[in-house]
Amino acid sequence: MKIVKIDDNLLHLPDCLYLTERGKCEKLSIEDCQGEKCSFFQTPTENALQKQRWAEQLSSLDDCLQKKIAKKYYAGSMPWKEEAQNR
Ligand code: SF4
Repeated sequence: MKIVKIDDNLLHLPDCLYLTERGKCEKLSIEDCQGEKCSFFQTPTENALQKQRWAEQLSSLDDCLQKKIAKKYYAGSMPWKEEAQNR
């Protein structure tokens, strides 16, 4: 039987999207997680809602404007349409 040792410090870290299993931040170049008061703190649920709002907002624009945005920022693709279809 293998005994797994759990680091108590990891249990006190927030449920942040950017927190790795080792308790490191993959968003910022800092040593320790800043906790829930961090300006970049975001739960996976908040991230999903944000993506959904982004997709809805871009999809609501007229086709000509969507094509301009796609060409300028997304190399011609429209990832917001795929995001909307996945909902
Ligand atoms: S709360 Fe801030 S510091 Fe901690 S993992 Fe998230 S983004 Fe990084």
